[in-house]
Order: sequence, then C-alpha cells, then structure tokens
Amino acid sequence: MINMQDKTLTCRDCNREFVFTIGEQEFFAQKGFTNEPSRCPECRATRKASGGSSGGYSSGGGYERREREMFPAVCAQCGKDTQVPFQPSGDRPVYCSDCFSAQRSSSGGGYERRSSGGGRDRY
Ligand SMILES: [Zn+2]
Ligand SMILES: [Zn+2]
Repeated sequence: MINMQDKTLTCRDCNREFVFTIGEQEFFAQKGFTNEPSRCPECRATRKASGGSSGGYSSGGGYERREREMFPAVCAQCGKDTQVPFQPSGDRPVYCSDCFSAQRSSSGGGYERRSSGGGRDRY
C-alpha cells in the first residue's frame, strides 16, 4: 500500500535538484508534515545557520532599500518648511522635528494643555 520512492525536487533557493529520499519522506510523514521540503538540505542548513528570517538576496538583486520617503510640509507651530515621513493629510497639523519633539517632551501624559504659567513660547 505504501509505495514510496525517492523524489527529485528543486530547491527554491539555489534551483538545484535534490533528492527527497524515502527516509526523509517517512520522517516528514511521521512529523505530520504534508508538504514537501522546498529547499535542498544545504540551503536548509545555511538558513538555519544564518538565523533564517531576513532574505539575503545575495546575487544580482538590484532591489535597493530606499530611504524612507519624505513629504514636504509646513510646520503648524513655527511655520518652517519641513519634511515628514508621511503624507500630510491636511486635517492634522504637521510639525517640524523640533516642534514635534518639543511637544512630545512637554506633554507629560495624555492630552493636556497648559494655559497658564507656560511662558515658554512667547512672541
Ligand atoms: Zn538549495
Ligand atoms: Zn516647527
């Protein structure tokens, strides 16, 4: 009933063919894996060794991580031209980095506005 045989699969990383042996297939079946390995043992080992995750597209990529796109804006606080890492929507004030950090540091917790005793921004 069980008619297993070695399978030849193609590694998705290096495109080399590798053999998915009966032994491995049984191992996979035991583990309850239903899908076949998509990488050759070598690439699997390399990925494991290198920690896996972030794709190391080593060869001929040409895909370069760009800097975060910046949008021109005018600071709602001081009126200075500035750039923000998001598209200014218009319904929210945009602040330059100075005013933004000043705001963040000044507002201790929550949205609290001091009307008295500030005296810092004096025109
Ligand atoms: Zn491979
Ligand atoms: Zn500003």
